[in-house]
Amino acid sequence: MSSFSPDTPVQIVWFKRDLRLDGHAALMAATGAGPVVPLYVVEPDYWHQPDMSARQHAFLGDSVTELADQLAAAGTPLVIRVGAVETVLEALRQTLGPFRLWSHEETGNGWTFARDRVVATWARQAGVVWTQLRQCGVERGATSRNGWARRWDRWMARPGAVRPERLNGPVVASDPWPSARQLGLAEDPCPQRQPGGRTAGLERLRSFLETRGAPYRKAMSSPGPGALHCSRLSPHIALGTLSLREVAQAGWSRQAGLAQQARSGPWAGSMKSFVSRLHWRDHFMQKLEDEPRLENTDMHPGLAGLRPDAPDPVRLEAWSRGETGVPFVDACMRCLNETGWMNFRMRAMLVSFASYHLWQPWQASGTVLARKFTDYEPGIHWPQVQMQSGTTGVNAIRIYNPVKQGEDQDPDGAFTRRWLPELEAVPDRWLQQPWLWSGAGQVLGRIYPEPIIDLVEAARTAREAVFGRRREAGFRSASRDVLVRHGSRATPPGRRHARKKVASPPPANQMQLDL
Ligand SMILES: Cc1cc2nc3c(=O)[nH]c(=O)nc-3n(C[C@H](O)[C@H](O)[C@H](O)COP(=O)(O)OP(=O)(O)OC[C@H]3O[C@@H](n4cnc5c(N)ncnc54)[C@H](O)[C@@H]3O)c2cc1C
Repeated sequence: MSSFSPDTPVQIVWFKRDLRLDGHAALMAATGAGPVVPLYVVEPDYWHQPDMSARQHAFLGDSVTELADQLAAAGTPLVIRVGAVETVLEALRQTLGPFRLWSHEETGNGWTFARDRVVATWARQAGVVWTQLRQCGVERGATSRNGWARRWDRWMARPGAVRPERLNGPVVASDPWPSARQLGLAEDPCPQRQPGGRTAGLERLRSFLETRGAPYRKAMSSPGPGALHCSRLSPHIALGTLSLREVAQAGWSRQAGLAQQARSGPWAGSMKSFVSRLHWRDHFMQKLEDEPRLENTDMHPGLAGLRPDAPDPVRLEAWSRGETGVPFVDACMRCLNETGWMNFRMRAMLVSFASYHLWQPWQASGTVLARKFTDYEPGIHWPQVQMQSGTTGVNAIRIYNPVKQGEDQDPDGAFTRRWLPELEAVPDRWLQQPWLWSGAGQVLGRIYPEPIIDLVEAARTAREAVFGRRREAGFRSASRDVLVRHGSRATPPGRRHARKKVASPPPANQMQLDL
């Protein structure tokens, strides 16, 4: 039984995407203010959103379970409640009396954005002070991207909050953890899903920095080697079982260690690439934080309505199941279906294929992918989906050729064959385009589909449509507006030569951050 003074107001810590005790600024601040009730709210309406899935729920379940164990060991059990947050908080107010509410800022999907507004209104009306603290490099209420990259470096370099030694607070009844089925989530087998929880996250971080990460820079573009040599930290960063700051500091510390060595082999380049991607994470998150509409609306107004509003269900379903008849696309999709993860380049290719070759609205294909990612992070996902669909209007149009990608990224065909065993009889030379093989009739349309589109023709038509829009009057000035709003700059435009160097930590690659 915990000891606390009933005279001191209770501090409720609302855990969201910050499922850890270490480096948890809101928990530390609350602990200093009074007895703490740690709270996790399972929101059924959230799980009814189209971008939510049972595999995400399973990863979350692992993570919340471990968090609950750690909180119990520290002296205060986690309170789990099922319902709308404002209803849960009001019920707690009725039983606990007045309290102060603490959480971290969240850049989530449109639903969580709207929910936070409801909670803020409730808090105002109930006289509850709700303090939201920053937990990563994303700036709330930012008015300009000038100097953002440098501020990110500084924020990440600061010491993180320490872990509270001992917690105490009143004993509060908790609800049982609802199953995916109880939340109405569809069956979603993902047999090779990564395990959640902080212990698993720390182990991923350790193994990446000590062993797996050496060939990262070279391996990250290929789905097979990438699965082993990428950090695989994304679901942990997304749910905050690891803080971005501790990951960045671990990366810098590894870089500093490498700088002492005469020969570091591929490690130096790999660590540089890794750390810059942590920077990208917040760079993308900042876009959605600044403009939540990017989840639904084209970033560039000149590209609105380019594709049909409603998806073609047959095409979308074939793509989602990995049955388009284009082997490398299908292999990547089946791997994603089974593991919940895919490397960056192949995520980009899957979106490009849906948006250009299949000419589907990115909102629909992006929602399908969101459900498949155990690391679904709206702030990265939606701006990336838009970028890979050519709707930002400022990035180069990148229509991936899946045949070439297959040949480049899976030269021995091992990955493709692993996920498409029905192509066993196809000779290596024709693996990525079996329709050109003289024996195609044995396989295509029998055990593996014919391609659902003509790759060359579909890409040509899509390219023409996009460039047609890009040539329209007013397109370029709207592109400049997009760049001003979302490009990250260390200094305001025009003052780049006056830029001073930040001594430490190492700067990210600015060229790659421009949008
Ligand atoms: C269409 C599309 C959708 C995506 N959706 C998501 C998503 O929902 N959640 C997600 O975490 N990542 C997403 N990404 C980015 C990237 O593909 C994943 O972060 C990465 O594959 C995760 O594997 P990892 O942790 O091993 O990454 P690593 O390569 O080891 O990188 C380390 C971390 O850096 C961040 N990061 C890496 N690449 C990027 C990038 N290009 N942009 C922003 N941050 C990056 C992630 O937090 C990642 O965990 C998406 C990319 C594309 C093209």
